Amino acid sequence: MCKEITASSALNKLKRKIPYGWDLNIYRGCSHGCRYCYAIYSHGYMQKGSEDGFFSDIYVKKNIVDLLEKELKAESWQREVINIGGITDSYQPAEKKHKLMPEILKLMIRYKTPAIISTKSDLVLRDYDLIDQLSRITYINIAATITTADEELRKKIEPHSSPSAARVAVLKEFRKTNASIGMHMMPIIPLLADSSENFEKLFSEAADCGVDYLLPGVLYLRGKTRQAFFTFLEEEFPKEALRYRTLYRRGGADKEYKNRLYQVVNALRDKYNLSGSYMKPMREKLQQ
Ligand code: SF4
Repeated sequence: MCKEITASSALNKLKRKIPYGWDLNIYRGCSHGCRYCYAIYSHGYMQKGSEDGFFSDIYVKKNIVDLLEKELKAESWQREVINIGGITDSYQPAEKKHKLMPEILKLMIRYKTPAIISTKSDLVLRDYDLIDQLSRITYINIAATITTADEELRKKIEPHSSPSAARVAVLKEFRKTNASIGMHMMPIIPLLADSSENFEKLFSEAADCGVDYLLPGVLYLRGKTRQAFFTFLEEEFPKEALRYRTLYRRGGADKEYKNRLYQVVNALRDKYNLSGSYMKPMREKLQQ
């Protein structure tokens, strides 16, 4: 269910530059339904503390385009990099109907503003021409977030997203533009999606697409996300749920596990000659 809301500002200034300084979220809530979603907490801001309904009650900022135009045309705007969809996916199913992203991209083009978009949806291909145009005038990064090459597992952990193969196809298409492209292997899900076969497949596909970088990151579990993920594990993967109790005594995975995992990941990075830095293409493009 989508509910329209009126926002008071479009851009959100981040406390730390990481390395971008601004976030733009056109939706609150996300119906991709990822079992490990880190953003469930954000519904609490919309609903007086209740984090329920993150996957089903989608808030649409109906005045976002007008607000953004006002902010981008202000003399004070420095054309810094904007992370579009830092909290929720801008190409989630609601975007098919609301079509806000084409208008946002037109503003990025008009005000020559660099941006980052990461998504789990091939709906981003609908806006190919606009992204292509933006890539010719400034930095735009298109990242596909891909956690598993196993389609059966993907349906369980990210039920309403695009199939992983379709996300790989997104990267291949955008390689034809001047955009920087990356694969976000995030989160790496211990015991479910940490096999060497899975990594080998994703790294080789990333290399095949000619990505500028591949960014891995291990699952982090806290708050509502932790509760939701454990409930999912107990229902679907009870054996693994038991092992998770030891692996995740805190928010982050056990240190030894992570060290072993990153050894494998780093070896594959060397094997496929893939960069782990999205800063490099950003710097190169912005210095031109
Ligand atoms: S795509 Fe991102 S925001 Fe949407 S449900 Fe998945 S993890 Fe959450």
